[in-house]
Amino acid sequence: MWVLAVVWFSGVLIRAEAQGTASFWRGNDRSGRCQYSFTVDSPTEASCPLPGSSPEVEALKSRLALLEVLVAHLAGGETGPGPAPRLQEAYTQALSEKTQLQREKDRLGQRVEELQRRVEELQQEAERLRSRPCAQPPPPSTPLYDNRPSPAGGSGDPSWHSGSPGYQELKAEVAKIPAPSPEDADDTKGCGELLSVGEPFTHRKTDTISGKYGVWMQDPEAVSPYGPGMVWRIDTVGNEVRQIFGYEDLQQLSRGFPTKVLLLPEAVESTGAAMFRGSLYYQRRRSRTLLRYDLASESVAARRDLPHAGFHGQFPYSWGGYTDIDFAVDEQGLWVIYSTNKARGAIVISLLDHHNLEVKRSWETNIRKTTVANAFMICGRLYTVASYSSLNTTVNYSFDTATGVSKAVAIPFKNRHRYNSMIDYNPGQRKLFAWDNHHLVSYDVRLGKPQ
Ligand code: CA
Repeated sequence: MWVLAVVWFSGVLIRAEAQGTASFWRGNDRSGRCQYSFTVDSPTEASCPLPGSSPEVEALKSRLALLEVLVAHLAGGETGPGPAPRLQEAYTQALSEKTQLQREKDRLGQRVEELQRRVEELQQEAERLRSRPCAQPPPPSTPLYDNRPSPAGGSGDPSWHSGSPGYQELKAEVAKIPAPSPEDADDTKGCGELLSVGEPFTHRKTDTISGKYGVWMQDPEAVSPYGPGMVWRIDTVGNEVRQIFGYEDLQQLSRGFPTKVLLLPEAVESTGAAMFRGSLYYQRRRSRTLLRYDLASESVAARRDLPHAGFHGQFPYSWGGYTDIDFAVDEQGLWVIYSTNKARGAIVISLLDHHNLEVKRSWETNIRKTTVANAFMICGRLYTVASYSSLNTTVNYSFDTATGVSKAVAIPFKNRHRYNSMIDYNPGQRKLFAWDNHHLVSYDVRLGKPQ
């Protein structure tokens, strides 16, 4: 068998070398079977390519080399800017564009807010003009200042809505009803339950961020050297609130020029201050200390800690702002509205001695202080407002200190500017004063016996 194979291979080689161009050969294969072979020279190739060197293999080799280069790029094996730095550059650029877009969005948001405010002002102005009949000049015989009390009472005087701002202010003075002193207070004299609250009337719009919230007031029982028309204002945005601005009257407040600026010796906390009988009553910052600042001597005349009162965010009204301790004035005198741990957040009311700030008597209600927007006293009754931000909300609870009974009520109340940070009653003007998102507003109130 091996002999036959050697013979067969030898035959092949001998025939190829012997003939050069073409040959025919006959012989047995490895298995001994007879086999015929025919060979011919390649017309183009001088020799056969080596095994594995076909064009397909060469093409595969070059493709493999390309792949290797790509892998090297991806692995960052090359010097110079590869894909990673290019990606980083694109990412940085995208971030920068995002920041610019965010700035633009903020700017447009502010613009929208400004326009909304402007629209609200115009709507308010339109409402005011609609509700006002043609202006009638006052009769020549009418004295410019008449301190006689109006027989119709302040809230019933239609002229409050029927003239220019200056005329309204004049009529407000005419309508003033002297409030009884605490000593001779009489619940039935001109007093009653709150029946309704009128539309808010804007006296002034503040023009800086520090005027977003604050407190403004008139003294219902003014004392020399300041008259009953004097308006006081404290912007309470900030940590060290010590300035109090005084305006001769409402008209001057509208014009914006204070005639008096006082610097309080100790900083004010929040929007709970009140003005009564020639003194400013306020809570000293970060404390439960009540202060009486005498306007005539421009000094602190009394100070006293309010026992157990929460302060600096422990029991604020729902809008926050450290409104834990809130002074109030009504026909019966000076009050303070707050809460204690013992009352577990329910509103506590104390009647104060306005001279030395001693607590004369206290009442604990079942109204949770943090759930209501603000509170005020009228004729010995506490009233709370449900929301500081809803356009149409209600006076939702009352508590009568004469009977110790609270009840739910639903007297419509409007937060026209959607951020009401202070509401207080002025028994001299028979109005509510409020500070609603840069706007110093007042509301007429109607008192009487519920049907
Ligand atoms: Ca209040």
